[in-house]
Amino acid sequence: MPQSRKRQKSKSVDKTQGNDKRMLDVTNKNDAKRWILTVVSLAIAILVIAGFGLQSFASFSVGSQQNSSGAQVGDHWHAKINVVLCDFTSTIPPSPGDVHSHGDGMIHIHPASTDTAGDKANLGAFFDSAQMKVMSDSILVRGEEILKNGDKCSDESSEGKFELTINGKNYTLKDFRSYLPLDTDEISLSFK
Ligand SMILES: [Zn+2]
Ligand SMILES: [Zn+2]
Repeated sequence: MPQSRKRQKSKSVDKTQGNDKRMLDVTNKNDAKRWILTVVSLAIAILVIAGFGLQSFASFSVGSQQNSSGAQVGDHWHAKINVVLCDFTSTIPPSPGDVHSHGDGMIHIHPASTDTAGDKANLGAFFDSAQMKVMSDSILVRGEEILKNGDKCSDESSEGKFELTINGKNYTLKDFRSYLPLDTDEISLSFK
């Protein structure tokens, strides 16, 4: 008799353990769900933050002119300009205007009036002054087209294209005319 009681006891213990196990399983499932939700929402948050980060990084790398109003009346800024077409380095002769060349490889920006200051003291004004018609896919110097995208620098070379870099970073050629050169900028226009 005492043996059977013992067995009964042990049976009831087993039952409880079984229930505990089931309850534990349910809790684990909920935990897993919650964990997945946390991971997913964390991932989304990271992506969103990374997206914003990239966006602000991109706008910074495209050109700091977005945060600048350009040279003002009374400023006298200098930006280095380098024009290399194929293996020919173009020297830009002295030119007139408030955004001009002294033939020293620098863009001299000293606006005399508000008509040429701020967003008008741009790269387009410099190329106009130097009589260089630089567009997104071609460059005309003194009215004569010398190069356009797809031209080859030599018979052996592949089809060339224009590249504009500002302080070592690529700048889209489409709207480069509106770029406002800042003091100490290093600007490079190349075709290769
Ligand atoms: Zn100067
Ligand atoms: Zn000057």
